Amino acid sequence: MPAADPEAALKRNAISEVKKIYAELAAMPIERSCTLRAECCQFRLTGKTPQLTRGEALIAARALRATGRKVQPSRPDGACPMLDPFTSRCLIYENRPFGCRTHFCAAAGGPYARKDVLHLIHRLQEIDERLGGDGAHPIEDAVAGALQACQ
Ligand code: SF4
Repeated sequence: MPAADPEAALKRNAISEVKKIYAELAAMPIERSCTLRAECCQFRLTGKTPQLTRGEALIAARALRATGRKVQPSRPDGACPMLDPFTSRCLIYENRPFGCRTHFCAAAGGPYARKDVLHLIHRLQEIDERLGGDGAHPIEDAVAGALQACQ
């Protein structure tokens, strides 16, 4: 039997826990109506970039790799690298990070109140610490690091 890989087990557990957090978030009774306008994915226009903890970055990086990409697409227009320039759809929508699930544009109902999701943010931070992270980082940097780590 091959020796257990503690690093791989740690990552697997982290991924599973973060996915549970996403599921709990989706089950919260907060009404929003996102119509996939992707306005919030235009970072240069909004001035805001999702900040990812390590567990979230691992999930996003694996989802991107599952599309057949080994690196993040370049977006010289300042949009999120996960936003497909041809379809204007998120390449990793099912695995998008926490910030993309809580920061809605005004047309969709606006962002969630931080106090309503703070307990989930704390859990993401705990997972980040367990993975040796030092807090959340902008999506492009966080995913770049996770892509390197899962090579
Ligand atoms: S990860 Fe997806 S939903 Fe989030 S900002 Fe990027 S393209 Fe938009």
